[in-house]
Amino acid sequence: MSGTDHFQWGDGRRYYSYNAFMKARYGGRVQKLPVDAGFTCPNRDGTRGTGGCSYCLNKAFNPSYCTPVKSIAEQLREGMSFHLHHNRNIKGYIAYFQAFSNTYAPVEHLRALHGEALNVPDIVGITIATRPDCLGSDILDYLQELSEQTHLCVEVGVESCRDETLRRIHRGHDFACSQHAIGQLHARGIECGVHLIFGLPGENPGQWLEDVHKVNALPMQHIKFHQLQIIKGTVMEREYLEHPIDFHHFTLTEYAAFVTDYLSELRPDIAVERFASAVPPRYTATSGWHGVKYDAVVKAVEQRLDKNGSYQGKNYSL
Ligand code: SF4
Repeated sequence: MSGTDHFQWGDGRRYYSYNAFMKARYGGRVQKLPVDAGFTCPNRDGTRGTGGCSYCLNKAFNPSYCTPVKSIAEQLREGMSFHLHHNRNIKGYIAYFQAFSNTYAPVEHLRALHGEALNVPDIVGITIATRPDCLGSDILDYLQELSEQTHLCVEVGVESCRDETLRRIHRGHDFACSQHAIGQLHARGIECGVHLIFGLPGENPGQWLEDVHKVNALPMQHIKFHQLQIIKGTVMEREYLEHPIDFHHFTLTEYAAFVTDYLSELRPDIAVERFASAVPPRYTATSGWHGVKYDAVVKAVEQRLDKNGSYQGKNYSL
């Protein structure tokens, strides 16, 4: 801590929050607005695979106003009016290309979509979620160009550092592919976020804590953690019903304790964007966290950090 009130990221929170990261850049709150641009995914269309990742049901993660039937501009305007209604102190909005693999298209198509988004008033940047194997050199060249025009972040779905798990969930890429893609983004000066899932089959909390050093070695700026939520109708639901013992489930209290331990090992300059996912209960096959609001997860983690006198990076060393 520098002084009595602030950690190195500039506020009194015991972890480096994404809000602090964005506030340092924009001087206030910036809201991400998810859009669905009608992409598919190479793990679904036969290029890498046909069934998709075993846990994937994209509509479970998409807000209802996001549909490719509407233009990007329409989706963004609807998202803005929703947020304006709830929070008037927003400094700007980020167009968040979230559904499926948002770099899986020719460069000219991407350029048109991003141009449409950036023409909407109050859009101050773009975040693109994608797979690490959808970042070929033509796409990277284009993204570098885009990052020189606007605030760009590329979110890479890493999900696990373990190849055995990545094979089991049918990701269609290995961890080395994620390391390479994130290295390429870094080399081109493109901001990068990483997505990880805690709870994939065959893994356990001890392994996630062992793997933090691999996560710390990725040259990225922010991270999202999701607890696995098993979605109805997915291949993973069947697998869970057949082999429930292979899945580690957390109660909220256990999860807060685990995240506290994880944060103490995490590099302190990585901003944490999310601690958990919030899939509507109608989609989930297991009942564990039904009704738990995301704010309650954040509160539980913060209370645990406080109780333990811990903070992000407390045990981190190079
Ligand atoms: S890469 Fe993403 S969109 Fe494609 S199948 Fe996996 S989770 Fe679904």
